[in-house]
Amino acid sequence: MEISDEKSKNSSATLSLEPSKNKWSHKPQLIICQNCDYKGFSKCEYDSGFIAWLVCGTCILVGCVFGCCMCPFCIAGLKICTHICPHCNKVVGAHYPGKV
Ligand SMILES: [Zn+2]
Repeated sequence: MEISDEKSKNSSATLSLEPSKNKWSHKPQLIICQNCDYKGFSKCEYDSGFIAWLVCGTCILVGCVFGCCMCPFCIAGLKICTHICPHCNKVVGAHYPGKV
């Protein structure tokens, strides 16, 4: 008696795409502009938020000598991402690091 097929059955059923409910990501995403009804991908503008500075400061304090204290500025997820409508240039949303 062997019960080994259980896992292979479940693994394929986990992929489900949630409809986006105002969840802003840190990269361009599909938007419907409330100002001009533009449908398409947003334009992203990244801004190094204070969290990037915080991580940078922590790295220096810990004594990180591998040059990785500059890393927070390379990680898009640590930056504030402002979503802008490319059609009318209005800000439609923003992603803040730390928030999912
Ligand atoms: Zn627009």
